[in-house]
Amino acid sequence: DADRLARRRDDVVAQVQEHYYAQPPRIERGWRHHLIDVDGRAYLDMVNNVAILGHGEPRLAHAVDAQMRRLNTNSRFHYGAIVELSERLASLAPDGLDTVMLVNSGSEAVDLALRIVRAVTGREDVLALTEAYHGWTIGADAVSTSLGDNPRALDTRPSWVHLLDAPNTYRGTHRGDDAHLYLPDALDRIAALDDAGVSLAGFIAEPLFGNGGGIALPDGYLAGVWAAIRARGGLCISDEVQVSYGRLGRHFWGFEQQGAVPDVITVAKAMGNGHPLGAVITSREVADAFAVEGSFFSSAGGSPVSCVVGTAVLDILESDGLQDNARVVGERLANGLRALAGAHPALGAVHGMGLYLGVEVVAGGPDAPDSAGAREICDALLDQGVIVQPTGDHKNVLKIKPPMTIDDAAVDRFLAALDRVLTWREA
Ligand code: PMP
Repeated sequence: DADRLARRRDDVVAQVQEHYYAQPPRIERGWRHHLIDVDGRAYLDMVNNVAILGHGEPRLAHAVDAQMRRLNTNSRFHYGAIVELSERLASLAPDGLDTVMLVNSGSEAVDLALRIVRAVTGREDVLALTEAYHGWTIGADAVSTSLGDNPRALDTRPSWVHLLDAPNTYRGTHRGDDAHLYLPDALDRIAALDDAGVSLAGFIAEPLFGNGGGIALPDGYLAGVWAAIRARGGLCISDEVQVSYGRLGRHFWGFEQQGAVPDVITVAKAMGNGHPLGAVITSREVADAFAVEGSFFSSAGGSPVSCVVGTAVLDILESDGLQDNARVVGERLANGLRALAGAHPALGAVHGMGLYLGVEVVAGGPDAPDSAGAREICDALLDQGVIVQPTGDHKNVLKIKPPMTIDDAAVDRFLAALDRVLTWREA
């Protein structure tokens, strides 16, 4: 029974990773944007930015099954699937970013990207933002600064990682109309690193804060910082693990929202819809320079099965018009959330775009993030059959990133449930 299974899990599965809930529902199946527990109860999955096509997608299952039966091997062999997926990714990336390396996760993509910028420039030091999460492997962890994930993140940072203050336009030092001040601050900080004799190999950032619930960077921020990094011979990494694949609605890639093009793209999550799959996309010039300075091989990265999954995900995303759906349904969702924020003082702001949204739970304003309140709302929503989780340095931002299959009816159900929960809390 459920209790026995929980005990067996506690005995054998490491507890370093926290669960979403104190009493997590026991999920047995998924169907589109729904998860179904062992008792047959359906939950609306509002937090899954991996399964963009939804759960239990039969066309994807068929592609895996057929390829697994035919051939699965590693990329030291030649086979069509790796060429097809790589060509597809290169055609989606901006001109000049046409060379692909395939891995199995976002952390691996970030680690590889860090190795590439360091090997190609012959430098060690890397610049990153505070309030960021980039993964769990040693390199990705080093540039992960989000205190929500690791309260000691800033103390345990290795000496080769340098930081810019997150240009948080809601809660940061230059909030609201002062957001334009973040870029000159960043340029001053980079100049101070010059004075200290630090030569940067590169800069890594997400073009919208995933950790903060999708807060957009100030206009022109990435273009300005990237120009300063490049002027010094460094390379710019856009971590697209969360923001890409059309989730923003208007853009396939997150950096498009900033009107700037990176030197290196990292991507994963949505790429395999849950199958382990990630990639680094860069220029031929950078990839060739890395081939001289470093080496790379991944036993399962770029396997025929992974590549067939990657291509099928893009086929389904395109044929089902899911990026357009993210834009249209995302607007309905954001408008509904803004209306709720107007009616309920616990909701301080709605961040993000498309189906990449975050809602601030506050006790008064930006300087009073309410993590206990956010937890309470998430637990009450579970009772309403809705799965949402808090994120951010203060764990007070409701992370709203449903599968891109979500429709008007599900959005309205979610908004009604959130409205009910907030009304109860106020009573
Ligand atoms: N980069 C970003 C922006 C992420 O959000 C994550 C995962 N949350 C990662 C990298 C790491 O990806 P993975 O969990 O697949 O290793």
